[in-house]
Amino acid sequence: SDELLQAAEDTVTSLEELISVSIDTSEVCRLNRDGECRISYDTALLLGKALALCEETGGALDISVYPLVREWGFTTGNYHVPSEEVIEALLEHVNYKALATDSDIVTLPPEMAIDFGGIAKGFTGDRILQLLQEEGVTSAILSLGGNIQTLGTKPDGSLWRVAVQDPLGDGYAGILSVADSAVITSGGYERYFEDEDGHIWWHIIDPKTGYPAENGLVSVTVVGEEGARCDALSTALFVMGEEEAIRFWREHRDFEMVLITDDQRLLITSPLADRFAASRPDKYHMQVISAE
Ligand code: ADP
Ligand code: MG
Repeated sequence: SDELLQAAEDTVTSLEELISVSIDTSEVCRLNRDGECRISYDTALLLGKALALCEETGGALDISVYPLVREWGFTTGNYHVPSEEVIEALLEHVNYKALATDSDIVTLPPEMAIDFGGIAKGFTGDRILQLLQEEGVTSAILSLGGNIQTLGTKPDGSLWRVAVQDPLGDGYAGILSVADSAVITSGGYERYFEDEDGHIWWHIIDPKTGYPAENGLVSVTVVGEEGARCDALSTALFVMGEEEAIRFWREHRDFEMVLITDDQRLLITSPLADRFAASRPDKYHMQVISAE
């Protein structure tokens, strides 16, 4: 119904008002500006999930990498390559472990700032699907800026078909058939810029180096139950790179993934392989990642 669609949209707006780094009055903005903020239940819930994922991914996801994201211009579109000195100086304040909470008060050390850019869309999607479910919806597909989240199957009982974009050209690399799953991609092909030397820099930053993560991966798609987790993992696995991402999957096994490399390989975890139809077998060499 229109009413329910409106409620879904309101969910986006109200979360955005709490956590956006570009809305002055948001809790995240106030926290970043004042170094302290009393946060609401929703922000606390998201913060708790985000910190757990920073920990689980060994800091490949780090919500405190924000000053670097900002310095590179990825929040404003005012792109430039920072000097090494600036990167070094900003890196000193990247450490999600230094964030402190005391009941509903969050405190940051001086110079530290956070953002939920790597996880917020997935979290928002979870909230919307929860709302729809509570209202009796059994079939839904949701698209939030490249994040696809599905509820149930299509009304006719067949699986939802979700395309994985070709990160090195137009069109699709393939199509996944899913039910009750989030399908979330992080890639270097949506938000990036080219410097004077023709080098491409994208918006996913390696918190260890302060530079955009460059390790041979051009896109990471994560399929799983929870949007927030899939969103965070897509960002983190992109930072980790192929080998570490595979190791992480083998240790966890509570999600599936598709990795695409700059040398045109498409790696897919074995349980997902049957549910993937390659659109460009001529272009991408497909390899199935086994559990061992
Ligand atoms: P998108 O939001 O474009 O779908 P991602 O989910 O991969 O893509 O999130 C990228 C965003 O996450 C960046 O714009 C930035 O705000 C933030 N970010 C970048 N690198 C990291 C990182 N290593 N850890 C946490 N957040 C990050
Ligand atoms: Mg993400």
